[in-house]
Amino acid sequence: MDQSPHLAAGASLDAHARAKLGQLQENRLRRSLAETQRTGVIEVMRAGRKLISFSCNDYLNLSRHPDVMAAAKAAIDTYGAGSGASRLVTGNHPLFGALEARLAQIKGTDAALIFGSGYLANIGIIPALAGNGDLIVADELVHSCMHVGAALSGAKVVTFAHNDADALAAALAAGRGAAKNCLILTESVFSMDGDRAPLGLLADLADAHDAWLMTDDAHGFGVVSTDPAAARAPLQMGTLSKAAGAYGGYCCASRPVIDLLVNRARSLIYSTGLSPADAGASLASLEIIAKGGELNKRPLANARLFTQIMALDEAASPIVPLVLGDAERALALSEGLEAAGFLVAAIRPPTVPMGTARLRFTFSAGHSEDQVSALADAVRAQMAGMA
Ligand SMILES: *Cc1c(COP(=O)(O)O)cnc(C)c1O
Repeated sequence: MDQSPHLAAGASLDAHARAKLGQLQENRLRRSLAETQRTGVIEVMRAGRKLISFSCNDYLNLSRHPDVMAAAKAAIDTYGAGSGASRLVTGNHPLFGALEARLAQIKGTDAALIFGSGYLANIGIIPALAGNGDLIVADELVHSCMHVGAALSGAKVVTFAHNDADALAAALAAGRGAAKNCLILTESVFSMDGDRAPLGLLADLADAHDAWLMTDDAHGFGVVSTDPAAARAPLQMGTLSKAAGAYGGYCCASRPVIDLLVNRARSLIYSTGLSPADAGASLASLEIIAKGGELNKRPLANARLFTQIMALDEAASPIVPLVLGDAERALALSEGLEAAGFLVAAIRPPTVPMGTARLRFTFSAGHSEDQVSALADAVRAQMAGMA
């Protein structure tokens, strides 16, 4: 058999990939996977070196909490390693019901629904609720999966200036009238900036325009005190992969909305249910988070210590950005910090807008004050060296 057409097609695909990678490399935007072993609550091993990580989203270090790890193991022993099918077929193991009831109780909603991840939640929820003839108004800095969910929906999508309620009001005034339904998308704590949305103002506008406010609480849950206005959002999504230390996404909402999502969210219907280990781990994490003790306050306290030492604006969450502008500078600083024993990821476009490459520091409960001040010293030394 003559295989040459296949070889030719493969060759052009490789050439395409090489050309694209070359462009990324030229702009210092090429990414690669670095093997990283998390060896302790805040330590990681990379290339044979031990580093203190200021880049994990495991804010409460629950991924290594003995109760959480034990719950994951117990769930495997009882229910097996995988769910076996979509939740609508045979994958709906008993841990889902318990986890959903607990989440709904914590968030103060009638019901909740667990998805395979936060990303899957957003790309499932948004197109299930909005479509042709509808309007989606999104904060310009919402996470990739909210943008993708909006694009998949077929609704008209407009963005508004970050955290600017007046800009949202203008977008609603301009577009709401022509749309049947309207969805407003925001994050409670923004993932790359660490600032918080003005949820009260957004909820007022949503009410005034009969629009449905959807909040993504990926970085708020368990680590910043909940804005009372959060409860006014009829759609509260989040993830179990950050402060909860496991994996999985969720949506908390009314019973009819959750029932509709079960019928319409394609990432729930056509994807295998979350594994028992992740569901079991999350249940144990929620117990720890719901206690609301000192642990939950420590990540923000550490972030505030850092912003105080660095004379930056006071941290509003455990995420602190240091915007450097070009990707080259961000990479150089990240590499310098790694040489000094700290892991701080450089965040480059398209994760953040062009010209706003940055270091993104995330603080966790397990960092000591000494480690935070040592980090600040190292950042200062690196920046002085670069100037
Ligand atoms: C991490 C993140 C997600 C995705 O959650 P995963 O569970 O990691 O898929 C969604 N939204 C925001 C704002 C995030 O930061």
